Amino acid sequence: GEIRIGMGSCCVAQGSAKVRDAVERVLSESGACADVKRVGCVGMCHQTPLVEIVPKSGDASLYARVQPEDAESLVLKHFKPKGMMKRLTYGAERWLDRFMSDDDDEPTIQKAISPREGAVCAFLGPQKHLATEYCGQIDPMNLDEYRRHDGFVALKKAIEIADPGKLIDEVQKSGLRGRGGAGFPTGIKWQKVREVQGDKKYIICNGDEGDPGAFMDRMLLESFPYRIIEGMAIAALSVGSREGYFYVRAEYPLAVKRIREAIKICEDQGILGDHVLGSDFSLKLGIMEGAGAFVCGEETALLASMQGERGMPHLRPPYPAELGLWKQPTLINNVETYALVPWIIRNGSDAFAALGTEKSKGTKVFALAGKVARGGLIEVPMGITMRQVIDDVGGGVANGKKLKAVQVGGPSGGCLPAELAETSIDYESLAEVGAIMGSGGLVVLDEDDCMVDIARYFLRFTQDQSCGKCTFCRVGTRRLLDILDRICEGKGKKGDLDTLERLSHDVSQGSLCGLGKTAPNPVLSMLKYFRHEFEAHLEGRC
Ligand code: SF4
Repeated sequence: GEIRIGMGSCCVAQGSAKVRDAVERVLSESGACADVKRVGCVGMCHQTPLVEIVPKSGDASLYARVQPEDAESLVLKHFKPKGMMKRLTYGAERWLDRFMSDDDDEPTIQKAISPREGAVCAFLGPQKHLATEYCGQIDPMNLDEYRRHDGFVALKKAIEIADPGKLIDEVQKSGLRGRGGAGFPTGIKWQKVREVQGDKKYIICNGDEGDPGAFMDRMLLESFPYRIIEGMAIAALSVGSREGYFYVRAEYPLAVKRIREAIKICEDQGILGDHVLGSDFSLKLGIMEGAGAFVCGEETALLASMQGERGMPHLRPPYPAELGLWKQPTLINNVETYALVPWIIRNGSDAFAALGTEKSKGTKVFALAGKVARGGLIEVPMGITMRQVIDDVGGGVANGKKLKAVQVGGPSGGCLPAELAETSIDYESLAEVGAIMGSGGLVVLDEDDCMVDIARYFLRFTQDQSCGKCTFCRVGTRRLLDILDRICEGKGKKGDLDTLERLSHDVSQGSLCGLGKTAPNPVLSMLKYFRHEFEAHLEGRC
């Protein structure tokens, strides 16, 4: 049998490394026979540390919020010790009693899920795992296991197709759009880079995620390093690139470590290098660590940072597809976009396009956070409603409170009130109600949250992250923040709301890059849907 322990950074932060040590100790002391396996994130951050017991035959069981002191009981419930020791037996019985009782006062271990198959649990049930395929089942660093789970099948197929045009067509037909936020059609971007002439072409994986409440890229990089490498290799083959880089923020040390290791293992195994999978196609990948500036997620700032310059955006055009890294044609895609590519090549564009809405195909990974009962990393089909995500996946608002709003798309996004919870999650529907998909942050807000304060929170973040190049962004966001500060402190003035609105539009129009252009979005959507709260502050009613 197998004992799977989630070892993503969320799990480790909650103590899963200690649980693993305890499980290994119990196995060695008791002589019980089971393999302990590190697995990637299963997305259920609200239940970590997670331990899944997979017996040789029969159903698997998944245990949540396991503590090191539970290891003894948990192991011995499923695996027979050699020469049963009295102390251990007692422990197991004691734990079983606790598990079987309905005593809510002592729920240190919750049996979350069993069996694994089917609608694994309410949290996982409505989800569709494409980018996060086999989540929680495989060791992120085990190449053999990745290969046993369809790993590098898509890359092999792409090499056999031996026609970049066909590969690009397939991606285009799938309807895949960049998952970094803007939603630009991936196939068109690839085609552009393919067409541009250059001495050399580069391919970059943008892993500079920095929105408050977002951790999609981190989890994908930590849990699926080979998957992202495979997606990048297919993209490189399609656009004619032989050299690529991961750009990952240094605040993601585990992601950086795993990607670095995975690249090395792939080189040693002939998956990267001069003869990718024995073919004539060569690919060299490297990794660069960003210093954590939010603006470096913007393509031109990212390139500047990679070239050793200050991470400041440039005016586009020229686009990186024409003049990118070291002035060469460069393809930049987000982590999730690359993670989806192998699935599309393996299963076909039709299978991907069958999911989602007319213009937004496939799935989207979200970091579900805030006042939700079951927060974590989720992957849902496009077109699912906000309400379904909050209620069916997230288990509703935490502590029985009322839903007030959902902040979608991080600090560049918008805030949707509870009345719009039936909004479909797709690029078009979100834009219609004044929000954006963004990279995938979903923060649930309840009746206790002050919307003026939330607007101020997001604006403070973008103001702090402004690179200072344009006056509207540098000074305009500062002025917006000053006004929000004084409203929150009860010192708001007559006319403040009009100024907020006017200045927000000016900042949007007068800023060079996406950061400045979208920084006022939370303020504008809060003013649109929750103006009464701003007025209440101004009138001293709260
Ligand atoms: Fe820098 Fe803001 Fe201008 Fe972007 S909009 S270039 S972040 S000052």
